[in-house]
Amino acid sequence: MIPCDLHVHPDYSFDAYSSIEDYCKKARQIGLRVIGFTPHYDTNPNRNEIDPFMNVDGEKVRIDDYAIGRYFDDCFEARKEFPDLNILIGLEVDYFRGVEAEVMRLKSEFPFDYFIGSIHCLDDIAISSKKEAPDYFNSHSLEQMANSYFGLLYDLANCGLFDVIGHADYYWRFGILYYGEEIFEIYKSRLEKVAKAAVRTNTGFEINTAQNRYGNDDFHPRLDFLKCAVEYGVKINAIGSDSHRDDYLGCNINMVLKLLAKHAIPFKVFYETC
Ligand SMILES: [Zn+2]
Ligand SMILES: [Zn+2]
Repeated sequence: MIPCDLHVHPDYSFDAYSSIEDYCKKARQIGLRVIGFTPHYDTNPNRNEIDPFMNVDGEKVRIDDYAIGRYFDDCFEARKEFPDLNILIGLEVDYFRGVEAEVMRLKSEFPFDYFIGSIHCLDDIAISSKKEAPDYFNSHSLEQMANSYFGLLYDLANCGLFDVIGHADYYWRFGILYYGEEIFEIYKSRLEKVAKAAVRTNTGFEINTAQNRYGNDDFHPRLDFLKCAVEYGVKINAIGSDSHRDDYLGCNINMVLKLLAKHAIPFKVFYETC
């Protein structure tokens, strides 16, 4: 039995490969009770030719309300077909300054269950992409990168529009290759301000287990970052595999939950606090 996986990319995301139906079948097989879908919603206008696309009916189309509507149709269909599962309809919004109005509009026009806000880009360069990351990391010192990332993370936490902050320490995923182990220290002088904003706006942090699939023992955020955030009062309110195909659904969730229990890190999913 796996209690939940709240960060799942169905094939509406153009970098994902399994349909909502496939994921739901897989959820039944592995005993996953709550599945939260979170397609990418990447609409940074400075990345207009790279990001804002979704797959709809086998075609790559620009993200718009029609695409979101089709995503809802599939989720509603799945809720009928899989009444034994609890299917949540979410979105992983790429956070950039200025996206707030669009998130408010989406909230007012669609019955989303939740929003994850995640940082993937600094200076409009995707530090989450192996291909683009060198452009950013090779041209910024660790100090510059850290200040830029945590400045953006503060605005994300402070805007109060998101239920969950996704993979809060994503900077080290590829940054470790450029800055070395020192990158693991940068949160120490910078997390407090972010954490206090998150507490004020009731925004939780997610635990993202994707790194474990890449042969890495760590998850996002790493344990010391996580403990520090919790000490500042942040709620850990979601856990997700960040699956882009159904093979990974539920991956490492129970392992991480056990680890949290071992370290007495409190965990309560956001829908249990509603
Ligand atoms: Zn992400
Ligand atoms: Zn994701």
